[in-house]
Amino acid sequence: MSRYVHDFFEGDKDQKDLLGGKGANLAEMTRMGLPVPPGFTITTEACREFLRTGAPPAGLFAEVEVHLRLIEARLGRRFGDADDPLLLSVRSGAKFSMPGMMETILDIGLNDHIGHDPDSYRRLIQMFGRTVHGIPAFDSDDVDECKKVFREHTGRDFPQSPHEQLYAAITAVFESWNSERARLYRRQEHIPDDLGTAVNVMAMVFGNRGPRSGSGVAFTRDPATGLRGAYGDYLPDAQGEDVVAGIRNTLSLDDLARIDPASHTALLSIMDRLEHHYRDLCDIEFTIEDGKLWMLQTRVGKRTPAAAFVIAAQLAEEGVITLDEALRRVSGEQLTHLMFPAFDLDAAPEPLFTGIPASPGAAVGEVVFDAADATAKTAADAAAGKILVRPETTPDDLPGMIAARGILTSRGGKTSHAAVVARGMGKPCVCGAGDLSSLQAGDVISLDGATGHVYPGAVPVRPSPVVRALEGEAIDDPLPRAVRKLLAHADRVARMTVHANADTAADAQRARRFGATGIGLCRTEHMFLGPRRALIEKLILADDSREALDELLPLQVDDFAELFAAMDGLPVTIRLIDPPLHEFLPPLDELAARVARAEALGQDPGDDGRLFTAVRRMHEQNPMLGLRGVRLGLIIPGLFAMQVRAVAQAAAARVAAGGNPRPEIMVPLVGSVKELLIVREEALRTLSSVDGAPPIPIGTMIEVPRAALTAGEIAEAADFFSFGTNDLTQMTWGFSRDDVEGAFFGRYLDLGIFGASPFETLDVPGVGELVRTAVDRGRAARPGLPTGVCGEHGGDPASVRFFHDAGLDYVSCSPFRVPVARLEAGRAAVGTSSSDSR
Ligand code: PEP
Ligand code: MG
Repeated sequence: MSRYVHDFFEGDKDQKDLLGGKGANLAEMTRMGLPVPPGFTITTEACREFLRTGAPPAGLFAEVEVHLRLIEARLGRRFGDADDPLLLSVRSGAKFSMPGMMETILDIGLNDHIGHDPDSYRRLIQMFGRTVHGIPAFDSDDVDECKKVFREHTGRDFPQSPHEQLYAAITAVFESWNSERARLYRRQEHIPDDLGTAVNVMAMVFGNRGPRSGSGVAFTRDPATGLRGAYGDYLPDAQGEDVVAGIRNTLSLDDLARIDPASHTALLSIMDRLEHHYRDLCDIEFTIEDGKLWMLQTRVGKRTPAAAFVIAAQLAEEGVITLDEALRRVSGEQLTHLMFPAFDLDAAPEPLFTGIPASPGAAVGEVVFDAADATAKTAADAAAGKILVRPETTPDDLPGMIAARGILTSRGGKTSHAAVVARGMGKPCVCGAGDLSSLQAGDVISLDGATGHVYPGAVPVRPSPVVRALEGEAIDDPLPRAVRKLLAHADRVARMTVHANADTAADAQRARRFGATGIGLCRTEHMFLGPRRALIEKLILADDSREALDELLPLQVDDFAELFAAMDGLPVTIRLIDPPLHEFLPPLDELAARVARAEALGQDPGDDGRLFTAVRRMHEQNPMLGLRGVRLGLIIPGLFAMQVRAVAQAAAARVAAGGNPRPEIMVPLVGSVKELLIVREEALRTLSSVDGAPPIPIGTMIEVPRAALTAGEIAEAADFFSFGTNDLTQMTWGFSRDDVEGAFFGRYLDLGIFGASPFETLDVPGVGELVRTAVDRGRAARPGLPTGVCGEHGGDPASVRFFHDAGLDYVSCSPFRVPVARLEAGRAAVGTSSSDSR
């Protein structure tokens, strides 16, 4: 029994770990009875052994010889035969496809005496020289010349023993696992370094045997749009490598139907079988040798995000897969991608540069090289967008990044400062685009943060058809239809509901159109900005704050009434004011200057003087850890009560008008049940003094680690929990949420301390453990306690899956991310994908 070598007829598609993707699928096609040239796969385990010891495992080549005999027997040709030799191809094939990263050697088995066309022999010497001995690629049509170059580089003649060629080729494929480009590719794609590659050895078939031969690649559906129908490229009288290399113009499959109808029919019927067998889009490589079709490869094909949705929905419609399975085959990341505006690629010229796609979206603007330029010029001419172009960015470039429409760097990757900050800002960014010295300040360029392409001039931008459809536009297009279908199924199967973070009626309406079934967080502090700032100043300055509160009350009532109207019949969680009051007051240095000026002119600084004293008194070194949230409510008399009264009055008015308001009141930053109890009692008193309001639950945010740990006590005083994972992350890690991402997260990501910013994707072992603890302790004290999350993580795909597992009832996120959260809530409910295609 073979240890390291498995014939194609021994394996199947589920053995990708051992046989690699290519080997497992060749085995599957062999089992299906498709015309696969005979061959065998050397396992990834043999490669791992090689990587451990530096030598091929003992007995490997003896096993190879046994399996070689089987191929010879099946084809009736011998390896090394002088007249009608069996020739072999040797190809790498890891568990995850790493296109072009490792090695292929064709026509193994030729030598000076084994008759064959000189072209194949020349190719063998070149491929073997490059792969086994690292001889740089060279151009020559002449066999003797190739042999000479080989001798000059290696100090020996091209090996004449077919067996020696085969063993050296296998060893070279093992070694190619650790080539520079393979390592780099794995790091980018998060493929583990210790998997190793399998090696596929297969009898050669020849597409270059004249007009009745050829090679091609094909897809069972269009991998760009997902539309039905076989797509492919065919090259008559050519080997597979020529098709991929793009040396000659290829023909379509329709052309093949004309040239060789029998092979075309056979091909289409095999493709149909493959798609039904794999129940997915397949891509294939084939060769026709003298009118006989051979299948050289198949796999579940890669596709664009748009195609992923269209194909999944279509396969479900065709009854090939269930809707649950369709949901597993798309992802929130893909949907995010589809929701950004995109360039109209039909109108795009050739890209000027291609870099690393670091933050999605489309931006058109003039090149500026300097952060100061970006801010200055944009301020002068707001209509003309700028693209900030830098070698790399540092925190000093921040103002320029804020002012620019997009960011382009010559150095750095997905974890560079530029990339991390741009993603945080939701701005398109392309990194590591190489030498940008051909750009001039003022050049107009178009930056595609989803593909990494940078185009000259202004490429027209198209709004996302998915967003247009979600906004209610009637668009007759398969993509929005597919998205809608899968979202509807996600809503049906999801256990969690999706709410939105919204503070205005406009945001609430948009969230509702996007499918939100409530508001999970209304940040009331946003209602204290603008002209209302004057009232806050009054609140701070007045000896008796009642007057200012009385003026604020009707304004807040109107704010809430609008929200309740927009979300009629759905829960609206009003959070009492959170950030430090000084955020609503003029900055200390500005006040100091005003006071100094007045004093210098011998004038009375008046209110400015009093405000200055008050602001100086309230000044905090760490405002995020200071007087905010529930602490403000306990320190400023009447502030929370005013807000609670406004909620109740607005709700009562809605009820009187025939509406169905469902307000909830949420207390921020609680760390001790005692804080909550005091606020709760006052709120209950206030609520009971307003007639006609519906019952209003009073809950708390869990966003201070102490609250999570004492959740059992806190639950006694809370009608619900909502996790504020922004603050919970800030306080669990001790990372200032406003500073650290741009400052040093790039380095942290490079060092592998975490794989994604914990402010973007929930840190499951740390912050996640606090969430689980709080849910468990809270529900132990109060069975059935409703729980949700309203930090940014509520719209992050990976985090949504965690919240589902942790047993939360809903996630709440910004309106734009609601569809992604709905999709992921559904996906979490149907379990993760069984397919491991990348
Ligand atoms: C949070 O901390 O997660 C939260 C939602 O509150 P805010 O972001 O307003 O502090
Ligand atoms: Mg918070």
